[in-house]
Amino acid sequence: MAGKLSTCFLSHQWSCCTVLDCKHLNVRFYSLPSPRFATVSCKIRQRNSRRPQAKKIIPAQIPQNDNLMTPGNENSDSENEDDFSHQSTSDEVVAIQRFDDKNSSSKLIPSIGADKVGEVTTVNLQDVIGMIRNAEKNIHILNQARINAIEDLETILSEKEVLQREINNLEMRLAETDARIRVAAQDKIHVELLQDHLEKLQSEMSNNGAHDAVVLRSPDRQTRALSEELNSLRNENMSLQNDLNTLKEQLRDVKRTDERVEMLENERTVLELSIKELEYKLTVSQQDGVQLSTLRSECETLWNKVEHLQGLLDKSTSQADQAILVLQQNQELRKKVERLEESLEDANIYKLSSEKLQQYNDLMQQKIKLLDERLERSDAEIHSYVQLYQDSVKEFQETLDNLKEESKKKASGKQVDMPWEFWSRLLLMFDAWFLEKKIHGDEAKLLREMTWKKDGRIHDVYIECKEKNEREIIAAFRRLTSSSSGSGLHVVHIAAEMAPVAKVGGLGDVLSALSKALQKKGHLVEIILPKYDCMQYESIQNLRVLDLAVESYFDGHLFKNKIWIGTVEGLPVYFIEPLHPAKFFWRGKTYGEPDDLKRFSFFSRAALELLHQSGKKPDIIHCHDWQTAFVAPLYWDLYAPKGLNSARICFTCHNFEYQGTASASEIASCGLDIHHLNRPDRMQDNSSHDRLNPVKGAIVFSNIVTTVSPTYAQEVRTSQGGQGLHATLNAHSQKFVGILNGIDTDSWNPATDTYLSFQYNSSDLEGKSENKNALRRHLGLSLSDSRRPLVGCITRLVPQKGVHLIRHAIYRALELGGQFVLLGSSPVPNIHREFEEIAKKFQTHEHIRLILKYDEALSHSIYAASDMFIIPSIFEPCGLTQMIAMRYGAIPVARKTGGLNDSVFDVDDDTIPIQLRNGFTFVTPDEHAFNGAFDRAFKYYKNDSEGWEELMKKVMNIDFSWDTSASQYEELYLQSVSKAKAARRAAAG
Ligand code: ADP
Repeated sequence: MAGKLSTCFLSHQWSCCTVLDCKHLNVRFYSLPSPRFATVSCKIRQRNSRRPQAKKIIPAQIPQNDNLMTPGNENSDSENEDDFSHQSTSDEVVAIQRFDDKNSSSKLIPSIGADKVGEVTTVNLQDVIGMIRNAEKNIHILNQARINAIEDLETILSEKEVLQREINNLEMRLAETDARIRVAAQDKIHVELLQDHLEKLQSEMSNNGAHDAVVLRSPDRQTRALSEELNSLRNENMSLQNDLNTLKEQLRDVKRTDERVEMLENERTVLELSIKELEYKLTVSQQDGVQLSTLRSECETLWNKVEHLQGLLDKSTSQADQAILVLQQNQELRKKVERLEESLEDANIYKLSSEKLQQYNDLMQQKIKLLDERLERSDAEIHSYVQLYQDSVKEFQETLDNLKEESKKKASGKQVDMPWEFWSRLLLMFDAWFLEKKIHGDEAKLLREMTWKKDGRIHDVYIECKEKNEREIIAAFRRLTSSSSGSGLHVVHIAAEMAPVAKVGGLGDVLSALSKALQKKGHLVEIILPKYDCMQYESIQNLRVLDLAVESYFDGHLFKNKIWIGTVEGLPVYFIEPLHPAKFFWRGKTYGEPDDLKRFSFFSRAALELLHQSGKKPDIIHCHDWQTAFVAPLYWDLYAPKGLNSARICFTCHNFEYQGTASASEIASCGLDIHHLNRPDRMQDNSSHDRLNPVKGAIVFSNIVTTVSPTYAQEVRTSQGGQGLHATLNAHSQKFVGILNGIDTDSWNPATDTYLSFQYNSSDLEGKSENKNALRRHLGLSLSDSRRPLVGCITRLVPQKGVHLIRHAIYRALELGGQFVLLGSSPVPNIHREFEEIAKKFQTHEHIRLILKYDEALSHSIYAASDMFIIPSIFEPCGLTQMIAMRYGAIPVARKTGGLNDSVFDVDDDTIPIQLRNGFTFVTPDEHAFNGAFDRAFKYYKNDSEGWEELMKKVMNIDFSWDTSASQYEELYLQSVSKAKAARRAAAG
């Protein structure tokens, strides 16, 4: 379809009869940067509007003067503008060079060469993006041109009407003139007749003589009068004929104008067609752009993986080098030993002669022994290095093969970029069919795999069958299941919280953000939650109950569970509603019930039952905190033997303070074999030997154990920080790691946050001070001094959070001339009472406000309004509030503990690289140390407003996203899964 899209004309000039108003229309088309796309240009020239004159209209020659725009050369356009405005051509020109359709689609997605793929993709992407932008601009310009052309046309049509009226007038006058000519002709005939008559009379007169001379004088006068009248009629006739000719000429001009109008209409049609075609091209280009960006992100992932592998290889190589070094050292040692043996022999010769020599000999013997031991150790070390190296090379090779296969599959399969919501709904639909026994397990598995890989065929079938009934839809999807195999991991999270539907603290945030990050990395992520009555149901899409009841064991009975499915922010979620008389999740709150242990041990068992009955084969089951810690021992004791044995268990402890310790009989309710588990190396609590500890059980029975920051992982290995579990954690240290949480940077984004009255970002902080005023107004705080710093604190009010320091900070902020806002809720009655007292005391204060409840919307406003944010925790596994606060430009004042130690770095600490420094920290959990940091923050804020603003910008730009942390989880999962596979292979022979 190469070639000229259209021609267009947009310039007329009328002269003589038309009063001219000249306006210049410069229309610029932008080039499509890819060589595959020829440039697009439209040349539109000076246009003149006109006012019609009332009387005669004499169309002048229409100068065809176009402003030509040079495609792809925007700079030269402006330089040449004047020239173009004086240029004259016979036809108006629009040259739109278009991209070559024949080649475009194949060239848009270049084959990915092993070396240059990133570069090529980037270039193409830039081309396409440039192209799309220019095409958009071109469409805009063409639209403008079209509008102008329509305006012109309308003007011309109205002029045509005026002309038509003129023509009608002229035709009437013509008719009048014709009539007058006809009368004149009759008069002429009459005169001729009179002349004949006169001649006759003259001849008669000459015949009759003088007698009649008197009679003749009178006709002579009459004849003269008649001939004068005749002459005047002739003259008039001539003038009318002239008029007639002029009118005919005008009529011809009018006809010419009609033709031009017709031509303009044709051109307008062509122009509209061109715009439509260009719009279609834009759509195609946008689709291509989307495909390219998907391809680019895949390539990036592949490159990251390859780089990671390269890193592994380098590491292995350096380990091998080390091994060689140790080997060399070993050889040297051997030589030394030989030399020592020689000297020993020599010494032996003199042994008898001297006691000194005897001692020397003993010493030598000891040295030899030591050297022998060292030799053995280095042999073992070398062996382990070699083993490690071989394993790494093998792993590298395997991963490389997987990657190759994956990339081959990706190259052949077409992915469709639909929102996660779409894919998750499909996933849940397939699961529902399977659970309702409408499709087989293997079909469900294949469909699920194709869905999480965003396979285009799934999308196509869905679109195809949209209008059909369920039976036909199922049949269509079944036909799809004849091919395909999966490559990502299937991860199932079992948890008590998930933001935003059921969030109490950080666990909820982590669950949804980590799941989203893993989903983005191409893994199938599913979540199982209790169906609380107090959930935020408006955040669940397409919630529906399945037509099945999963039965699960508890206290010697089987109880039915209703299974609900729905998507939460694009993630597929299963909600379990136990049909147990105790109505476990109909309590109006998430935690804090006397039978919490029963509630969550029941849920853990029901969740495993759901997985088992659905026949799924997840790669990872990831459980969180004591509420779902039961999953780990239940899985290995009961469900792996039943056949749910594909998974590795990952347990994340978000806070070791809560361990769910209970008597063995209580723990037995969910079916755990307490006799088997009540042992010091299994689930027995380390301090109360008559109790069982679910968190300890999860540490012992999981394949991967994580906590939420590296520093906290270190702290809990000590007797001070381990909450009684340090020995267990040390015993299982090989599988225990600390991974720093991230935050969901989409939900926590001041530039898009819909909870805020004013959105803002690091390059435009005006909205931040507007939010500060909005919050002050909302809470009834003084607005008098905009530079008065506002200190925020959002927390559960529990001893861990340093409540005495929070209380102290309220008064200290006041002393330092600040304002203080606390949003907190406390499950601890005396803390709640204490803060209620303080809240009451300050309820009408102009600078202090305490809001003692859980309020998600208000929390966003406080983060946005705060200048400083305090987190004076006694211990803090990770802490999210310091990261959220920084994302919103509030500077943290934090105690150096746990995750705070890994994310907040003092601005005055010279031992820390300057680019990392982002807040104010203190070590000792007392008021004096707190003041040290808090006072410094106030001083900085008051004395160096520019420096403070720079600091705000810096902290807002720190990357707290889940990308890095999710990759660490991904790596742990993959390692664990590949170990299991290797073990299975080894067991199979
Ligand atoms: P926790 O120990 O409670 O998990 P984190 O810092 O890890 O502490 O996470 C706390 C999360 O809970 C943050 O998202 C914070 O904004 C939110 N949060 C805490 N208290 C409240 C409250 N009263 N109202 C609203 N959100 C709160």
